[in-house]
Amino acid sequence: MDIIVIVIAIAVVAVLAAGGLVVGSRRRKQVPPPPPAPRTPAEPQVGEEAGEPGDEQRRTIEEVDLPGEPEAAAGTVVAEPPPPAAPELEVPAPAAGRLVRLRARLARSQNSLGKGLLGLLSREHLDEDTWEEIEDTLLTADVGVQPTQELVERLRERVKVLGTRTPEELRALLREELLALVGTEADRTLDTAESVGPEGAEVPGIVLVVGVNGTGKTTTTGKLARVLVADGKSVVLGAADTFRAAAADQLQTWGERVGARTVRGPEGGDPASVAYDAVKEAIDEGADVALIDTAGRLHTKTGLMDELGKVKRVVEKHGPVGEVLLVLDATTGQNGLVQARVFAEVVDITGLVLTKLDGTAKGGIVIAVQRELGVPVKLVGLGEGADDLAPFEPEAFVDALIGD
Ligand code: GDP
Repeated sequence: MDIIVIVIAIAVVAVLAAGGLVVGSRRRKQVPPPPPAPRTPAEPQVGEEAGEPGDEQRRTIEEVDLPGEPEAAAGTVVAEPPPPAAPELEVPAPAAGRLVRLRARLARSQNSLGKGLLGLLSREHLDEDTWEEIEDTLLTADVGVQPTQELVERLRERVKVLGTRTPEELRALLREELLALVGTEADRTLDTAESVGPEGAEVPGIVLVVGVNGTGKTTTTGKLARVLVADGKSVVLGAADTFRAAAADQLQTWGERVGARTVRGPEGGDPASVAYDAVKEAIDEGADVALIDTAGRLHTKTGLMDELGKVKRVVEKHGPVGEVLLVLDATTGQNGLVQARVFAEVVDITGLVLTKLDGTAKGGIVIAVQRELGVPVKLVGLGEGADDLAPFEPEAFVDALIGD
């Protein structure tokens, strides 16, 4: 009798155990068989891409079937998103000849300035009204009052001497006079020469990029890194615009695309210390150029002076600053000139960068701002594309203005 009871008890236990197993295996059956060779996410394989189907499947298992039960995922790979693949380095377009390539972008300037002037000068009777129209055309294109008067005077004289005016003669004459105003003598190359620091170390060329936020300063710094890389130079970027939240990320992305390291500090941190560290990093790396994006808050002139002045002084502990490039938005006209004046009082500007020349009919600002500051335009922005920053070439610029 006892034996029968024991046998029944064993049978009941066996049945219960079998039931449990079924539940367990049913649960496990929801999990598809493990992939043949589980891989560690931290070690992506060659050719692996984010979001491949297997990854998605594994994430679904983890997130939907087994929330909070990592042990139940035994046999599956808990898939974290793979680390972003190292970005492939881009090869920037050669810097030389970019303005010629991008001349069509100046079309709006071309229509109002060059073509407008040629049309007016070709009129049969160049009466006072026509000369006034010529003057207005120049002023509207932001050439500036003084240069406009000079140009109109020169044109009046030369047209008188010319007598009959063929379109070719007028074009040649206008080209010559505009070119004289833009200037062909100035040195527009960037000074990125290396120097020897106080401790005898080789110090890279140091370039500071200054300007008001919104002018395209950070974008221009990123594009300039590409110009330098295209010229065979190695670059370290300094994200010293610590006041605009996205500026450092933006700059870093530009840098990564061409293999330039970006030195950055905490948001709202001291711009001068970031700039200092960036040059130090460039020295340690043996880079050719340290390119520093500075803070562009134009709150008060004293504040700006303190900030920019400090950045420059601190950086100069490493070595001389070769270039201080002022970025101006060409579409802002007179406002841009006011900004230029303030910056020029605060720091010695060595070159101008005019951005957004593609979006304005006011190409004459090149003439006005150079005249205002006595500093040459060295680069112009002609679009939002990565290689739309062009070294400024007076001939190509004037040719684009008056058309071929
Ligand atoms: P920041 O505040 O001065 O650093 O300004 P950003 O560098 O962020 O640029 C502001 C905007 O201007 C961005 O959308 C840029 O793409 C745009 N931008 C910069 N340069 C040019 C240019 O030459 N042409 C055009 N069309 N847009 C530009």
